[in-house]
Amino acid sequence: MSGVRVLALSGGVGGAKLLRGLYRILPADSLAAIVNTGDDFEHLGLHISPDIDTTLYTLGGLAHPEQGWGRRDETWSFMRTLKELGGETWFALGDGDLALHVERTRRLELGQKLSAIVEVFARSFGIRAQIVPMSDDRVATRVATDEGELSFQDYFVRRHCEPAVRGLRFEGAGEARLPKCAREAFASPDLEAIVIAPSNPWLSIDPLLAIPELRDALHSAKCPVIAVTPIIGDRAVKGPTAKIMAELGITTSALSIAEHYSGLIDGFILDARDRELVDRFDVPIEITDTLMNTPEDGDRVAHAVVDFANQLAKAQL
Ligand code: GDP
Repeated sequence: MSGVRVLALSGGVGGAKLLRGLYRILPADSLAAIVNTGDDFEHLGLHISPDIDTTLYTLGGLAHPEQGWGRRDETWSFMRTLKELGGETWFALGDGDLALHVERTRRLELGQKLSAIVEVFARSFGIRAQIVPMSDDRVATRVATDEGELSFQDYFVRRHCEPAVRGLRFEGAGEARLPKCAREAFASPDLEAIVIAPSNPWLSIDPLLAIPELRDALHSAKCPVIAVTPIIGDRAVKGPTAKIMAELGITTSALSIAEHYSGLIDGFILDARDRELVDRFDVPIEITDTLMNTPEDGDRVAHAVVDFANQLAKAQL
């Protein structure tokens, strides 16, 4: 895969907002995203890839505008009927969404690779960016809590992130390989920036970093690696990042995020509301308003990423 200029590492919603910005400001085929699959699970006999699907729906312009998951203009006939029959309804599956899971499962059962399937789906949604699952091998995020170890979806959806997190492990990550297209993206001669998107570092980015090949590729990257803060002040914009940090005994601050990625990143994008922290980081800092409520906000953060990377690359010469 040549021509990739920006490679993003991403989870679900927070990451997808930055990806949409990058996709809007860059030539369409110059963006690649390696996306977390540690949340993937089997449900009702179907293989579900929540973060991949959020990315597909967001870049394809199909995402639900407020909900944070699923598709816009969705219908719910399947779910209604399942409920009447007394079936399992804790994980909401709209009719259109369901079709995607059925088709992915059918293709996996035929022996197709997840990365190849996602490529077909992206093309059918008219997406020209590369969306790449972090591995075609199975990696499962397991959450150690004060109520014992839970599978990711049991923790996240069924238990609404209520149990206190004591630790995380990523089953299978040590042996997992990157898909070929991810290796090619890292090797792109045009690569200007690798960006760790504002996703949950513990739940959405650490599963990627647990894959030794990905960590090695980051260490040997020839372009700047930049992270965008998912924490503003002492809060997450959404989701359980701040709650998990507190439970793990980590101060909820952008400083802790930069420290978490220490040794991997060459620069950090701090939110403008936290500018008084600027002198306390060990890496170069760029400051911008990182809150992405609209597509234009995503463009602003995307521009900041690309400009900052170019600036860091010049300084390294
Ligand atoms: P999830 O799958 O929904 O958890 O999505 P991610 O893991 O991609 O994103 C969750 C993280 O993204 C949280 O820590 C949020 O604080 C962060 N986030 C979400 N939206 C934004 C935003 O607009 N700006 C910034 N800076 N962070 C965001």
